[in-house]
Formats: sequence, C-alpha cells, structure tokens
Amino acid sequence: MTTALFWFRKDLRLKDNPAWAAACEAHKVLPVFVLEPELIASAGRYRRGRFFQNLSALIAEVKSIGGRLRIIQGPAQDILPQYIQENNVDCMYFNADTSPFSRKRDERLAENITLPTHTFWGGLVHPPGTVLTQKGEISKVFTPFYKKWVTLPAPVSLPYPLPGFVDNPESDLEVARDLIPRTSQEGYEGASARFEQFLEIVDDYQESRNFPSVDGTSFLSSDLHFGTIGPREILNGLSSNREGHRQFIRQLAWRDWYAHLLHVNQEVPHKPVNKSYENIRWRDDPEGFERWKEGVTGYPIVDAGMRQLSATGWMHNRVRMITASFLVKNLLIDWRKGERYFRRLLIDGDVAQNCGNWQWVAGTGFDAAPYFRVFNPVLQSKKFDPEGNYIRRWIPELEAISSSAIHSPWECDETTLRKHNVVLGDNYPFPIVDHAEARERALAAYKASRE
Ligand SMILES: Cc1cc2nc3c(=O)[nH]c(=O)nc-3n(C[C@H](O)[C@H](O)[C@H](O)COP(=O)(O)OP(=O)(O)OC[C@H]3O[C@@H](n4cnc5c(N)ncnc54)[C@H](O)[C@@H]3O)c2cc1C
Repeated sequence: MTTALFWFRKDLRLKDNPAWAAACEAHKVLPVFVLEPELIASAGRYRRGRFFQNLSALIAEVKSIGGRLRIIQGPAQDILPQYIQENNVDCMYFNADTSPFSRKRDERLAENITLPTHTFWGGLVHPPGTVLTQKGEISKVFTPFYKKWVTLPAPVSLPYPLPGFVDNPESDLEVARDLIPRTSQEGYEGASARFEQFLEIVDDYQESRNFPSVDGTSFLSSDLHFGTIGPREILNGLSSNREGHRQFIRQLAWRDWYAHLLHVNQEVPHKPVNKSYENIRWRDDPEGFERWKEGVTGYPIVDAGMRQLSATGWMHNRVRMITASFLVKNLLIDWRKGERYFRRLLIDGDVAQNCGNWQWVAGTGFDAAPYFRVFNPVLQSKKFDPEGNYIRRWIPELEAISSSAIHSPWECDETTLRKHNVVLGDNYPFPIVDHAEARERALAAYKASRE
C-alpha cells in the first residue's frame, strides 16, 4: 500500500476533515504537524496556549486510533521536502487555507517537491469560488452572498475509515515534546462539548448575543480558527427552521464570506478595500494608542473591553465593534494598528476574520458600516450593558457607582463620585476625547479622503 503524508495545519481534528478522510481511504498514513516559528512568534500567549493544548489533544486523538503524530520544526517549505524523501512518501494530503502566509508557504513548497499533492477545504462550510453571482464573481455585499450560500446543499460531515499507519522509526525529527502540555480539555473533545452546551441556549441566541454580560454566544471561534471542530459538523447539528439557529447559521456565513474575500484579495490585511479611503490622514498618537490598549480611555465600556482582552485573550463581539470603532473614529488611529493588536491577543485571532471585521468597522471594507456611522460609546454602553454589569466586572474602580452613572462617570457630580470611591483624574481617567468633537474630526478626515 502506498504511503501518504498527512499534513495537519488549521484542521486539528480527525472527524469532519475531508483531506484526512480521503488520505485514510486510500493509503497508509504518516501524520505530521509542522511547527512554524513565524506563526508561533506572532501569536500572543493566550492563542499560543490554546494552540499547544489543541495540538496536545490531537496527539492523544491520533494515538487513540493507533498512530503517532510527528511534530517537526518548520518552516514547512524547507523541512518537508527532506522529510518526504527520508520517509519514502508517495503522496501528500492537506486542507487548504486562504491566509497570505499559508498561500505563500504552499507555493514555495510546491516548487521544492514533485510528489502528487491532494488538497481539500476543511475549514469552511463552502470552499472559496463556490458561492458566486451570476457574473461568476464573489458578491461584494453580504446579503446576496448569504442568500446564495444558504441555499447550497449543506455538505455532510464525513466519517473516515480507520487508517493504517506507517511504522514509527525512533529516528524521526521529532521536537518540542516538552512544549506540549500533557493533559488537555481542548481539541475536538473541548470543542464538541462547547457546541453541545451552546445547543441548549441557541434558541435565545438572537436576543442574548449582543449583551456582553450574558454568555449568550457559542465561544466556538477559537475552535473554528484551529479547526478542532469542523463548520459543517456544526451546521449539520442545527435546524434552519428555528430562528435562533438561523441567526447563528448566518454568522457562519459571515465567516465564510470573509475567508472567500481574502482568498480573492490577498491585500485585505494591508489596504483599504474601498479605494476612496486610501488617503485618510490617520493621527500619529502613540499615547492615545497605549491608553486604548491598556483600557484607560475614560470611556468605561471601551476600557472594560480592552481590559477583558488583555486579561483573557477574548472580547465579546459587540464590545469588539465598540472598541475598534473608538480607535478608528474617536482617536482617528489607523485600523491596521488595532487589527494587529487584536490579532496578536485574541484566542481566535484570524487574519481573514479580523481584517474583514476591522475593515467593516473602519468603513473601508466590502459592505462595511457607512463612514458617517460613528458608534457613540455611551449610547452603546447604555443599550447593551444597561445595568453596567460587564463594566463592573472589568473595572473594579467603578464597582460602586450607580447603573445610570456608570456609562459616563464624568457627567456625574464630584460628591456622588467620591461617595462611591471614584476620583476622576486619580483612580479613573477623564475621557481622552470629547465624543462629539472626535466624531466631527473623523467625518472631516473621511470626507477629505473621498474627495
Ligand atoms: C473588530 C473585530 C475583530 C474580530 N476579530 C475576529 C477574529 O480575529 N477571529 C474571529 O473568529 N472572529 C473575529 N471577530 C468576529 C466575532 O467577534 C467573533 O467571531 C465572535 O465574537 C466569536 O464569539 P463566538 O464564537 O461566541 O461567536 P458566536 O456569536 O457564537 O458566532 C458563531 C461563529 O460565527 C462566526 N462569527 C460570528 N460573528 C462573526 C463576524 N462578525 N465575522 C465573522 N465571523 C463571525 C465565528 O466563527 C463564531 O465562532 C471580530 C469582530 C470584530 C468586530
């Protein structure tokens, strides 16, 4: 029987993994993961931690069916050609990815190998290039994309035949064992448990998903990023006849859309997609940027979000929108700086999703928020954290302040603030900018770029 090298990348699972199923069907399998120093260095400690936990879980999963996952040190384009030769590999299987890093790496590798390579799409519901307009293009507006996407037959998640494994010579270039924690509740087991839990509340998703003090969302984004669960398995577990399920399915379509857009435009991380905004004169404001990162802007909802991000590697979607908008519109700081900061810290930091969403917030992307829509952080806070519970959780200085005053403490009189242990300019800052003035400044900068 021929030997297939199976290269795990952003698909750290066995179930619902199309490339894995195809490799196991026809060959003896040699499963490999290549540690990419560049990717590991670019991830903050939370995502790096998640990654190693997931990898550890995959090692255990492969072991449970009689195999051994080899971990080798990349860059893949340098090490794989040699590895393939040393192990008498006949062909290679992997799941493709849309990120510029992956695509460049795969192109370079292809120049250095001659064996047959079989690629699949395991990380998206529908692969890039399959959801097109009548003109044969990807829709630049989300709703038509979604309408098409949702009517395509949902691909079923694949079972896989138990593979035969290649023997494990001890001389493998195996490294980094000690980097990997021994036990883990992550991987497929962790992801599917999260999905099961979410199914108990998905009917309320539409109502609860916007409130950061409520655990009303699935927390599956990091799993989808690392591929510890497949999006098709998730889709197969939902019902399009129920409203909460439908709304959740729509979010999976946003995820596909941003990945498809990156696939056809690899400049999304670097350039505004809407050329009208190429000449915005962003402010150079290192102090403002630091205060935003540290969560000391004086706008409690913004500060709560930024503190949650640096303390946990996570931030609720609504608060991601508010904090991103604050950086871009209120501080007029280039969205690319915020995007890089988010991507490094987030446990789900993902080039397609992060850049797509940052460009949406900045108003520079496909089907983005119109440039004149500037989130008012106080109104957003009142609407989505009415009792201030989320703010209190992340800003203990404001714990005792009333629910009506917590959204804009500077509007409260000094005596009341003191009674609640808040001294503005001392233990909590005055607002870094006046919202109305900042809004005018942003509109002027955007208009100037359009003209
Ligand atoms: C400025 C900004 C940056 C973001 N950066 C990322 C990122 O780096 N990685 C990332 O996965 N998501 C990102 N998002 C999208 C969204 O915030 C997260 O996917 C979501 O908060 C994850 O929580 P959840 O899994 O509980 O989401 P749920 O509400 O349970 O949604 C289910 C899944 O749908 C997808 N999804 C939901 N909302 C979006 C969206 N707006 N765009 C694309 N897919 C979506 C995610 O895969 C998510 O796991 C960003 C949003 C903003 C506004």
